[in-house]
Amino acid sequence: MPALLDVQELKTHFPVRQGLWRKAVQHIRAVDGVSFTLQAGETLGLVGESGCGKSTVGRSILHLTPPTSGEVIFNGTALSALSSTQLRELRIQMQMIFQNPLSSLNPRLTVEEIVTSAPLYHGLIPRQQVRKEAARLLDRVGMSVQHLQRFPHEFSGGQRQRLCIARALSLNPRLIICDEAVSALDVSIQAQILNLLKDLQADQHLSYLFISHDMGVIRYIADRVAVMYLGRVVELADKETLFQHPKHPYTQALLQAIPADHPRRRRLKHQALRGDVPSPTQVYAGCPFADRCPLATDHCRQSPPPWRELAPGHHARCHLAEPTPHGATFN
Ligand code: SF4
Repeated sequence: MPALLDVQELKTHFPVRQGLWRKAVQHIRAVDGVSFTLQAGETLGLVGESGCGKSTVGRSILHLTPPTSGEVIFNGTALSALSSTQLRELRIQMQMIFQNPLSSLNPRLTVEEIVTSAPLYHGLIPRQQVRKEAARLLDRVGMSVQHLQRFPHEFSGGQRQRLCIARALSLNPRLIICDEAVSALDVSIQAQILNLLKDLQADQHLSYLFISHDMGVIRYIADRVAVMYLGRVVELADKETLFQHPKHPYTQALLQAIPADHPRRRRLKHQALRGDVPSPTQVYAGCPFADRCPLATDHCRQSPPPWRELAPGHHARCHLAEPTPHGATFN
């Protein structure tokens, strides 16, 4: 079945300008050749440390941040071929939920206005049905019709995120990009929002690109997982394979960051991740992870590791990742 979303070699670079003529002296390679697909009804987790470029991937897919090169194909339509008007219309089917719900909600609008202004603007509902539609949307996200005339500041963080979800649902999307959507919430509220997203997905066959730095959250919500490092995907597999048999040393290090009582941490031997994510302006001759990798060789520093399929559906970008049946390459 063709993918709902097909991201091909997506690159988003930002020029660093200096001098009187604001000449570009180097480029921040925030996204540097990212490719993946997402099926209808599927959740793909996009995980990595802060600064690895995962949020820029989300924004670039929607062309909120224009990509430098590459292609995004949504439901068979290449976004680069669309006019700005056509892109706006197609974006109705692709919504985004952000980390901080308060800053993404207009403080001057009531809940009713927040969840119905977009479908009204796009002519998806008649004006006479605004109240009924707003009540329906609030009910979908577990809120009461009594909240309709309240303002965002009157709600808790979890309720505000529910409002953001209701606003995204108001346009009847097929894809929702969740950018650290539960990171600012308490753990118990996180679970409620994740369960709500799962329920909505089951009811409406939604697809999620779920961006997070938290492996625990990704493990709960995702069907497949893409691990990002310095603007590139370094490992991609279905959730069980990635958590049981991680092949890339960076994925293994991220898994070690899961609390100590987790069985995966007891099994993995290598040390936790050293140092910070390096500058995305740097151009590497070999593997960009080499300075932090406990297994790096001279070959790693001189030659970029290719993107290889180690098992059906399991890819990694590492010279030493072998397609062993038990995924025990580094253990
Ligand atoms: Fe480490 Fe080498 Fe693999 Fe890069 S290619 S992750 S440096 S072992």
